[in-house]
Amino acid sequence: MTDHPTEPTTTDSEAEAVRWTTPPTDGGERLDGRSAALVSADRILTGRRGQVEGSLETIGIRTSSLSEVEVTQARTAGQGGAVLLRGRDILAVGTTAELEGHLAELLPDVDPNDVVRVDLPGTTLMPGLIETHDHLPTSGTDVEYPDYGPHEVARLTLNAARAARELLSEGVTSVQSLGARHYVDVALRDAVDAGDLRGPRIIASGPQITTTGGHAHHAGGAADSLDEIRRQVRHHHLMGADTIKAMATGGFMTDGSAPWFAQFTTEELRVLFDEAHRLGRWTAAHAHGTQGIERAVRAGVDYIAHASFVSAAGRSEFDPHLADEMARAGVYVDCTIVADLPGIIAADPTFAPPARQLWEHGVRIVAGHDAGIPASPQRAYVGGLQALDSVGLPRTEVLLAATSRAAVAIGRAGVTGVLAPGFEADLIAVAGDPSQDLAALHDLRLVVARGREFRPDRVEGLAASQAPTEAVGPSATLAEWRERSARAARHPEV
Ligand SMILES: [Zn+2]
Repeated sequence: MTDHPTEPTTTDSEAEAVRWTTPPTDGGERLDGRSAALVSADRILTGRRGQVEGSLETIGIRTSSLSEVEVTQARTAGQGGAVLLRGRDILAVGTTAELEGHLAELLPDVDPNDVVRVDLPGTTLMPGLIETHDHLPTSGTDVEYPDYGPHEVARLTLNAARAARELLSEGVTSVQSLGARHYVDVALRDAVDAGDLRGPRIIASGPQITTTGGHAHHAGGAADSLDEIRRQVRHHHLMGADTIKAMATGGFMTDGSAPWFAQFTTEELRVLFDEAHRLGRWTAAHAHGTQGIERAVRAGVDYIAHASFVSAAGRSEFDPHLADEMARAGVYVDCTIVADLPGIIAADPTFAPPARQLWEHGVRIVAGHDAGIPASPQRAYVGGLQALDSVGLPRTEVLLAATSRAAVAIGRAGVTGVLAPGFEADLIAVAGDPSQDLAALHDLRLVVARGREFRPDRVEGLAASQAPTEAVGPSATLAEWRERSARAARHPEV
């Protein structure tokens, strides 16, 4: 009788185990997004405000005058902070001693010895970072609309996949895409959700809705009447967009579209946002000039990108009354404070987005960097947070702007951005304490996206630059416009 090996019988759990014959893994993951795991560190920043004004809620060993020996003793006594994960969710948050002491109640069906333990001395655990304004498909290019000829869709998709990995390598576990041709961001979102590619949670907008020849019209979302606007919104919905983005004003990157002029009337914007809300979509508006900001706010938008208050005089002219109105309306605002903006402001202060003033008026500032456009690479995310700090936003506010507040700003309240039971397990560990020094965010020790660890690629992060930078982007455009009015002024009256 020949020796035929018997066909192995496969139980359900084995079938699950062999699903990853060629696992889409980066190797060395400690957290697989399925098991129960206890991640411990010196402390946790939960993403909530603390009791003391201007502080952040902290669990575990606070950064104070403790010596290294005292910190070690406190950790040994279980006074560090820990997060208990089950699959893709957070089950509990507390001190290490509290969670270890309650494992049997928290996980009645799991042998405590089977709980994966990841201990990270010297680190702070905090919610994964959130980029609220990104252009995934043009990432890594030096023009806003690269020409890939017949390979356009494929190349944009590949760019976007690379950008998503780069963001995750910076500790960004959620990203709102605010402009993507061919709905590349929708497809990428689905691929990440399905586990085919690693990347942050993606909130996708597809192409921006604009006017014919208006800002970013190359993206293909032009609409010129109320009916066309409704049709565009419905088409975006059909194509699977999460956020509907309108170009409320012109922009710096499209020739001949002046950022201080509104592109749509208030009525047009109202129809756009109402239709989006009717379909359960989130809404965002690109708005530089005062008129466009005002119209978008009055039309009921959820999120405003830029809010630079740039005027026809070619400079930022802050409007405190409009800021109050924005605060009352509760809109979320990114001032697009990119890593080299402090340097740009040093060289030419005319274009200084008023993040600090808006915040003083009670406007909800979040961390959006227009990442993916030229001069704002994804890898400069943390540098952008440092830049937000250097233009006057308190560090506590910067951290909220990058985590829990950002989660609400992208329509994911109660899902991510906070370390608390019931939230998805999006978290990072960084060496040191970012509430004391944002530079700590450059030293990532753990990235977990929806319960599954990601081993970051080697991405060279960019710190905020204070060095005066030659005018590029907005300041270059503004300089051109100022020159144009200066020329017009020297013309004789005829
Ligand atoms: Zn943008």
